[in-house]
Amino acid sequence: MTRSAKPSTSLDVNARMSRQRRRDTTPEVELRKKLHHLGLRFRVNFPVPGLSRRTIDIAFTRKKIAVFVDGCFWHVCPQHGTWPATNEEWWRTKLLGNAKRDRETDDLLVGLGWHVLRVWEHENVEVAVQRVLDALQAEPHLQR
Ligand SMILES: [Zn+2]
Repeated sequence: MTRSAKPSTSLDVNARMSRQRRRDTTPEVELRKKLHHLGLRFRVNFPVPGLSRRTIDIAFTRKKIAVFVDGCFWHVCPQHGTWPATNEEWWRTKLLGNAKRDRETDDLLVGLGWHVLRVWEHENVEVAVQRVLDALQAEPHLQR
């Protein structure tokens, strides 16, 4: 019996991993780049006031606008959120915990007078840019 050709799995895994890496970072980086190109200035990974371990992905501190770019898996997107079949119970607790913390963070920020904008990683970046611009326009009390 001849040994079969080298399985293609390693190639598949590599391709999958590089896609995964891109998915993990690109939506947020892309949004930041576009906002920056529009001349907007903001803080990245700005600590949530009073919750030092949580950060705002993109923070317009003077206008108090907090933008979060949420991954579909980790933040349980209603369209793409999935429950892994292995260790289902553990994942469910973990992911629902993430979603619960997101809501707590939102409530805390809103209580402090922030406007919270959550962008899903699946959203079109141009649409996301427009949502940020709209939020900035809607907060006229402070000039940039
Ligand atoms: Zn999604």
